[in-house]
Amino acid sequence: MRPYILAETNWKEVKTRKYNLAVLPWGATEAHNYHLPYATDNIQCDYIAARSAEIAWNAGTGLIVLPTVPFGVNTGQMDVPLCLNMNPSTQLALLMDLVEVLNTHGIDKLVILNGHGGNSFKSMIRELSVHYPEVFVCSANWYQASDQTKIFHEPGDHAGEMETSCIMHIAPDLVLDLSQAGPGAAKRFKPAGLKQGWVTAQRAWTLVTEDTGVGNPAKASPEKGAVYLEESAQEIARFFIELASLDNHELYE
Ligand SMILES: [Zn+2]
Repeated sequence: MRPYILAETNWKEVKTRKYNLAVLPWGATEAHNYHLPYATDNIQCDYIAARSAEIAWNAGTGLIVLPTVPFGVNTGQMDVPLCLNMNPSTQLALLMDLVEVLNTHGIDKLVILNGHGGNSFKSMIRELSVHYPEVFVCSANWYQASDQTKIFHEPGDHAGEMETSCIMHIAPDLVLDLSQAGPGAAKRFKPAGLKQGWVTAQRAWTLVTEDTGVGNPAKASPEKGAVYLEESAQEIARFFIELASLDNHELYE
């Protein structure tokens, strides 16, 4: 029973604790090439949130990890069977309710720990601040916390070497043999502005990739996954510890 994981702890414990930081892991349920489970993003979020919270908790930080939200924005994958799209407007409604609870109980910091590229919380954070000005809300893509290129030959965006390595480490029984995986080849946009990245749009997934993967998983290994996850967790834990140590009006220098 880990006291920093809300789903595992109890009222006897919660009653006596003072939390000032909540962590909300947020994933997606979607196809990940042929070889990884639909819950890949959630499995990674569960793992990284728990490990980074463990480090921060052991350093004396009063934080609590909320249950992982398993539904992400998959508006670009509506034609892939059972990609469980949750629209951004629904995500905002969910955040409004959760931040109301935190605000009511004096927890004035929330980190959304995102694990899915289709989720974007920036505009939601702005809108939440109008309704709950006392609560500092921020979001982090956990997979950007540490340098992927030091560890992976070709990290990939989706079900590539990085994600495959992570799931090989966390849940090896849920990974098919790599001989079953597609190459994760992906097409790029034709118009130059979109190719260069200064124009943004969502990608029509099935026009971009045949196996739903973006990135080649061929060089994945559980050892690489273990090293990368730990480096990421250490970095995220440092952020939790620092953020929790500051009052919301002391966040600037
Ligand atoms: Zn993923």
